[in-house]
This record gives sequence, C-alpha cells and structure tokens, in this order.
Amino acid sequence: MNNVNYDKTVAVIGAGIMGLATAYYLAKKGYKVTVFEKEKEIGGMAVTFNFSGTEIERFYHFHCTSDYDYFEMLEELGLKEKLHWTSTSMGYWYNKQLQPWGNPVALLKFKGLSFTAKFRYGLHAFMSVKRNRYDDLDKIESTGWIKKWVGKEAWNKLWKNLFELKFYEYSEQLSAAWIWSRIRRIGRSRYNMFKEKLGYLEGGSKPLIHGLADAIKKHGGTVLSGTSVKAVTQDSSGLYHVATENDAGFLFKNVVSTIPLPYISGIFECIDEKSRNMFEKTINEGVVCVIVKLRKALTGNFWLNVNDPDMDIPGTIEYTNLNPLNGEHIVYIPYYMPITNSKFNDSDEVYRNKIKSYFMEINKELKDEDFIDIQVSRYKYAQPICGIEYLKTIPQIKMDNHKIYIADTSYYYPEDRGISEGIKIAKHISSLVEENE
Ligand SMILES: Cc1cc2nc3c(=O)[nH]c(=O)nc-3n(C[C@H](O)[C@H](O)[C@H](O)COP(=O)(O)OP(=O)(O)OC[C@H]3O[C@@H](n4cnc5c(N)ncnc54)[C@H](O)[C@@H]3O)c2cc1C
Repeated sequence: MNNVNYDKTVAVIGAGIMGLATAYYLAKKGYKVTVFEKEKEIGGMAVTFNFSGTEIERFYHFHCTSDYDYFEMLEELGLKEKLHWTSTSMGYWYNKQLQPWGNPVALLKFKGLSFTAKFRYGLHAFMSVKRNRYDDLDKIESTGWIKKWVGKEAWNKLWKNLFELKFYEYSEQLSAAWIWSRIRRIGRSRYNMFKEKLGYLEGGSKPLIHGLADAIKKHGGTVLSGTSVKAVTQDSSGLYHVATENDAGFLFKNVVSTIPLPYISGIFECIDEKSRNMFEKTINEGVVCVIVKLRKALTGNFWLNVNDPDMDIPGTIEYTNLNPLNGEHIVYIPYYMPITNSKFNDSDEVYRNKIKSYFMEINKELKDEDFIDIQVSRYKYAQPICGIEYLKTIPQIKMDNHKIYIADTSYYYPEDRGISEGIKIAKHISSLVEENE
C-alpha cells in the first residue's frame, strides 16, 4: 500500500442537491471530499438547461414556508436575497371548464360537486393541514383514508384521477402518511386561508447548485462531473475502492451514496445481502416532463388540476405565474409513471402533439404560432413509491460494519421529495460520518 493518508477521506456519489450538500457539510468539518457525478452537468433533478434562450431548470422547483433547511443553506451561501415569494393561485379544469380552486370560496362556488362532497373534501383538507402526528397514518393505505373522509363523490370527482395518473398500479399501495405530508406542506404555505404563498429562487436552483460546488472546492474538495461510479469494493486494509468507468479507481475511508436506491445493489458489492435485497425491492417511478414556451399565458394560475377523460394529465404547472421571468410564459407538465409503462417510451413528438391539443382546448385563444418551443425530458428514478410503514422496508442510512452511508429521496419519508429535505438529510449524514470516525 502507498503511504497516502486516507484519514477523513470521503467519496460522495451523486451531485444532486443531497450529494452536494453532504459534501459541503463534510468539507466544512475538515473532510477531504470527492464528489462523483455521472452526468456532465451537476444538479441531478435540479439541473438547468437552455430552453430556447431561457436558462431554466429541467424540472420546476417552488418552495414552501416550511422549507427551513433550505432557507438556512441560502443564508450560509449568501443567496438569501435571491429568494422571492409570490401569491400564487390554483385552477381546476373540470367538465371542460376552467374554475378557480385552492381556497374555501373557490370550493363553495365549484360547479359540478354537491354541497356535501364540498364540505367533506374541505374538512379533510383542513384537518390534514392542522394535523401534526402521522404514526397512525403510517400504518394505513392512502386511498382508503381519503375515501373515508371525503366520501365517494369527492373521491371519484377530485382525487381518483390524480392518483391514477400519478401512481398507476401503485395507487392502492401508498402510505396515508406520505400523501398527508404533501397536503400539509402546500396547505401550510399561505399568507392566510385565502391566499397561497410560494417561493422561488432567482435563477432557479442553479445559484444553489453552483454555490455548493464552489464552496466545496473552497474547502479543498473536488467535484468530478461526467464520472460514473461503477463499483464500490473494500480492500484488505478496510479502505473503499471506488471504481469509475474512466479510471482505475480511488481509495477512501468513507463512502456516501445519494444515487437512487435501485442502483445500489449493482454497485455496492461489499454490503450485506439483507440490505442489498431491501434496496433491490424498492420501487421508483420515472417522469416524462414536457416543458412548453408560449407567447401567451395558458391560464393565470401556477397549478392547474386537470380532470378530463380526453386528457392523460393530472395537471400543469405554469412556472412563470410564480417566477415572472421577464414576461415569458413557461409551463411544465410532469407525466409520472412506472418506467415499464409503454407510454414512458412514446416519442417526444407524441407528447408534443398531445400537450399542444390539450392547451388549445384549455385556452381557446392559443394558436399554433403561440407555441415557441416544446421539449421533453425523461428521468428514470424520479419518485420513490412509499408504501405502508415505509421506513421499515429500507435499511438504515449507515450500513452495518461499514463506513458506508446510503440515502436517496425516499429517506425523506413521510415527506415527499424536496430540495429542503435533501439538505436536511445531508446534514444528518454528515453528522453520522463524524460520529462514526
Ligand atoms: C418533476 C419534478 C418536480 C419537482 N419539484 C420540486 C419542487 O417544486 N420543490 C422541491 O423542493 N423539490 C422538487 N422536486 C424534488 C427535487 O428535485 C429532489 O428532491 C432533489 O433534486 C433530489 O436531489 P438528490 O440529490 O437526492 O437526487 P438527484 O437529483 O436524483 O441526484 C442524484 C445524482 O446522482 C447521479 N448518479 C446516479 N448514478 C450515478 C453513478 N453511478 N455515479 C455517479 N453519479 C450518479 C445522478 O446523475 C444525479 O445527478 C421535484 C422533482 C421532480 C422530478
């Protein structure tokens, strides 16, 4: 063995927000970090691209008033001034009609729903926002929980379609705690009962992603993009050998992985079989995300829920109604689905044509020439599927008998994926590494 000192060396796999934030916290504590990122551009789900002259994220990102770890990180990196808040609105495309949504008045005036169904739907939303405990919800399935509260009519008209077009065959396997936390996060991000309050970062997630990479380098760390990790093995001295596709490999005392769990068993040969089996059983959905640049607004809303038998989308996100971007009009349409669904491999042209026709139906003023650009991107492991008592089905972050730490977005449970949650887990991992020195 050579005489290099490997003390305090850490390999971090994945340069999405969680990998970068973990590397940042560890570098600040004096660790020698090396981040490995498979793609040429760092950022993972929060990567930025050039969309017909507009620098924008591949997937939209908004922030809620409860994103405390995110705010703390912005403060640390000197980016707090770039965070802005907007009073956003919601709409519902229902019965071929655009209706206001997302506040008690809109619910009362909503056309196509009985008063009882409105009351039960509203009560469930209200109680979910007020609730803090989730231990009982962790043990039950979500559709049964919602139906019990809202009744058959509100379930069929308002919820069913959202579940079917987001979770497909997994719709009836999800933990109620996981669905509840989404309702609560959005429901609590408000100026008052009638006004929603959402945040965005000027420049999107790019200033955060690149701010983290710069800070890692300032503390002596390295970020290697375009460097996919192929295998992690342990040598006789207990060090970890991280093999990449374009190099013989590197040695480290600690390894942190933030890549999606389904990749783990193929890379980490050295961890025990029980953990590898648990990682293998995790389920993730992919996303096909369509992004559209228009000459006119689609609607005045940030969110638009869609329930239309002729449209295979549960909703749209009109990002420029949150972040004005110099008067541009940009809309995202995420199609989440299991990657085994044949639609996942439909051509970009199929998606472009569908979305164009849906938009022209929703806003009759939109003409062919109003579509400046439409792009389609795919992410294979975009959304973990969290079933009942989910945390019992995945291993602990620290692998037994190893200095290997593994987490991805599913460790945010019962919270859904979010940049703030990624930062929170990163902080936790950096403490675990330190504790296990
Ligand atoms: C459509 C969509 C909308 C979203 N909207 C919001 C929102 O509004 N607000 C919010 O807070 N969050 C939102 N999120 C969630 C947020 O983007 C994620 O929680 C967060 O970006 C995940 O970061 P991560 O680092 O955990 O994972 P990832 O971003 O997936 O990072 C993992 C990284 O690992 C890399 N990698 C994989 N395999 C290897 C390998 N073998 N070697 C090296 N590198 C590898 C990948 O290339 C990737 O860069 C959204 C996500 C999606 C998909």
